[in-house]
Formats: sequence, structure tokens, C-alpha cells
Amino acid sequence: MPLVKTTAIILRSRKWGDADRIITMYAKKLGKIRGVARGARRQKSRFGAAIEPFSICRLNLFEKAGDSLFRISHVDLMRSSHVLREDLDLMTSAARMVNIVTAITPDGDPDPLLFETLEQGLLSLHESKDPSFTALLFQIRLLGVTGFRPQTDHCAACGKTHFVGEPQFSPIAGGLVCLSCAAHQRVRCVAFSRGSLSFLQQAIRLAPTVLTRLRATGQVRNEVEEAIERYVTVVAGKRLPPVDFLSFASPR
Ligand SMILES: [Zn+2]
Repeated sequence: MPLVKTTAIILRSRKWGDADRIITMYAKKLGKIRGVARGARRQKSRFGAAIEPFSICRLNLFEKAGDSLFRISHVDLMRSSHVLREDLDLMTSAARMVNIVTAITPDGDPDPLLFETLEQGLLSLHESKDPSFTALLFQIRLLGVTGFRPQTDHCAACGKTHFVGEPQFSPIAGGLVCLSCAAHQRVRCVAFSRGSLSFLQQAIRLAPTVLTRLRATGQVRNEVEEAIERYVTVVAGKRLPPVDFLSFASPR
């Protein structure tokens, strides 16, 4: 049984058998995987809070031939998720981040940039005064690093570069479309003001370190939130599950 040492972000934790937990995680070296933490629900478990959702930790994992389930043998907590699970707004935004990563990533396909994006997203939530806005910026960045960057330079359907009138965002085409293409989209488009377009372009372009300085309020925020929410739903291939607060909040 080969041993793998890796940093990982805990996406989900489920009860298994009498005393164990099955952990879904995004591991830096292995991508999205599942592992079993034996005895994790016992009073004096050696795993403690390290395997709670949204926490960042270092793990020792054993891989068994022919079994996709890893055995978790040791965990060191690097960043506790306690704060994120104590506050409803923070938990909702953290759950949105991990649910999207869970939905759009294949199993066992490591992507260091995706790992870093999720890590930075969760860490920035710790400092955030506006969790849902932090989650919005995270989603735009995540779309970019996973090959789904929203198209904002030309019509995502016909390629035309000059827009007449207010642009429209098509969740199906994955970006802005011209008025004549908007009329032929199978799903209703989101009307986009010039302010929303400029915000989205900046959110795509800016480096993550300066992204937190961006602001959006009122109509711009509503339009961009609706467009990204609906586009992410298309990318994820299904409606994302509602946030199951108990599964993220209950410690054992
Ligand atoms: Zn067009």
C-alpha cells in the first residue's frame, strides 16, 4: 500500500458505519478523492477537527490497489474551518465554493491552480465582510482556471466584436452575445449594463491579490450575480445542491 503525503482541502464529510467518516477532499497531489477516517466519530479520535468541511490540512494517505477509497492515517490541521462553520453567511459562501468544485472537477485529476484558487477563496472568506461577494469573485476566477472563462470580448455565439445596444449574457453560450444571437438562445439571457460588463472584465483580468479591492453594488451586483449563478449551473451540468447546513455544521 503506497503512502501519499499531500495537502488537502476538505470538501465534505459523511458518517460511515458506526464510528467512521468518509471524507471527500481536494488533494493537491491527487485531485478530488475520497478517503475513510477510521474511528473519526469516537470521543478521542486522533483526527479531531482537522477533517471538518472547509479545513485545510496535511494528510498521510494509503492507497489500496483496486480501491478508489484511500485510508487516512494521519492529519495535521493547517487552517481550521471553525470560524466558517459558526456563521450562517460564511458557511453558505464556503459551501457554495466547495459544492462548485465538487460538481465541476473529475475524480483523481490534480490541478495545482484549482487547488490554489479554492485555498485562496476559503482563506479570503476568513477576512471577508461580504461573504457572498467573496464567493462571487471566487466563482469568476474558478471559471477562468477551469477553462470556462466567461466570454466578454466578442459575441460568444457568432464572434461579432461590435455590440449595438445593451449586451446580453447567455448562460448557455458562456458569455456576452449580440442582440440578434440573444433572440435565438434556448434559455433567457441576462440583460447586462455597461457597468456590469466592465466589472466582469476586471474580475476576470485582475490578479487574485488585488481582486479583493473590486466593488459592485446595486444593479451591477445583481446582474453579475444572476449571470454567474446561471452560467455556473450550466457548467456544473445540473442545479447545484442546496446547502445542507447540518452536513457542514455538525461536528460528529
Ligand atoms: Zn452574435
